[in-house]
Amino acid sequence: MNRRIFNAIWIVAVIVFLSSLLFIMGVLYSYFSGVQAKQLRIETELASRGVAMSGIKYFDSLDIKDYRVTWIGTDGTVLYDNAADTSEMENHLEREEIKEALDEGYGESVRYSSTLSDKQLYSAKLLPDGSVLRLSIVQMAIWSLMLGFIQPILLVIIISLILSLILASRLTKRILEPINNIDPDNPMQHINEEEYKEIVPLLSRIQSQNEQLKRDQKEIEKAAMIRQEFTANVSHELKTPLHAISGYAELIEKEMVKEEDIKPFAGRIREESTRMTKLVEDIIDLTKLDNGGVEMKWEDCDLYRIAENAVDSLETPASQLDVTINIQGSDAPSWGAPQLLYSIIYNLCDNAIKYNHAGGCVDVIVQPNKYETSIIVKDTGIGIPEECCERIFERFYRVDKSRSKEVGGTGLGLSIVKHAVMIHNGKIEVKSKVGEGTEVIVSIPNKQEYIEL
Ligand code: ADP
Repeated sequence: MNRRIFNAIWIVAVIVFLSSLLFIMGVLYSYFSGVQAKQLRIETELASRGVAMSGIKYFDSLDIKDYRVTWIGTDGTVLYDNAADTSEMENHLEREEIKEALDEGYGESVRYSSTLSDKQLYSAKLLPDGSVLRLSIVQMAIWSLMLGFIQPILLVIIISLILSLILASRLTKRILEPINNIDPDNPMQHINEEEYKEIVPLLSRIQSQNEQLKRDQKEIEKAAMIRQEFTANVSHELKTPLHAISGYAELIEKEMVKEEDIKPFAGRIREESTRMTKLVEDIIDLTKLDNGGVEMKWEDCDLYRIAENAVDSLETPASQLDVTINIQGSDAPSWGAPQLLYSIIYNLCDNAIKYNHAGGCVDVIVQPNKYETSIIVKDTGIGIPEECCERIFERFYRVDKSRSKEVGGTGLGLSIVKHAVMIHNGKIEVKSKVGEGTEVIVSIPNKQEYIEL
């Protein structure tokens, strides 16, 4: 870019200079040609008066080199010529300027010399006795004139070349300096927006892309951190039941358990492996959701029927904890992945039962509206402190860790719910009061609304 700008500036400067030089030379040449022709006319006028008065004697005292003077008699013979032998000269009656002078009293003509470069100006005047006096002069062609000035012209060209090179180099530096000083991390910082209007859109684009890159970088780092945390949590969560299982198994192996205790020990081993299985299943579900649920089958479904199924399958565990679960509402046609919609309602109801009191109840309401269907899961359970309501959707977050473990929680249920709701473009809201109960409202857009989104 540096070289291109530099070349452009000095080439333009040289071209402009040379063309102005040529133009000025042309103008001067035509002006001086005019002056020369006018002068020739005056000289002819003066000389013709001299010849009219003194005749051939006029030429005796004449000593001129630049002009050619010819006197032609009435019959066309040359009476006098200061540059040639009159006896050898042909009749001049047919010459253009002579004919014109004989007709009109004064005549002029221009003839090119054999080389075509220079031209000869003729000026002829009719004298009172019928003879004609002719003066002529050589007018140099513009090229011959320039050749005569070749040295000063060359000098001027060389000086202008050097000057334009110096100026071009300085200008290039001045133009490029702010561009070279652009900080790629903050391109708009040192640039004068008025002066560099043309590159401002490019710079602001670089700036916004930089910001986007920084944001993306932050998101990538955040995602990597979440993944790392998740992996650490998963290993930790798996280690606990594994340790317990291997501990119980070791005691049995070393015959350190009484005969009657073997059965309860086996029961604990089964409990721990069930917890592990649930954890692994939840992790698999979450991983699928992390991929956007692409392998899930989407179809027309009824949210009320799905809720009914979830409630049915939770009735036994609910009655074991002395919790009653009811469902109300009406058919709610929807569009989504039935497997995910089921896991949303199942997980919410499961929590509402697990974190309830004996004798408590859970109400599931499916409310189809014009644009969306609301699923409300309301319990009379232990409630969630206000400051925890946001965090319960984080992976492995539990309000009360020991209570969650006691009821077989993995800490992943609500993360799965949140993800599944997001995939359906839905919303989730939690209202809770410690000691009174919790209400979770999920809204899933209806089919048409979903398509229009
Ligand atoms: P978990 O497997 O521990 O139930 P979740 O992700 O389903 O994990 O829930 C996260 C935490 O939110 C639970 O550990 C519990 O402390 C709290 N929580 C969820 N639902 C309720 C509820 N209906 N009532 C009270 N606390 C709840």
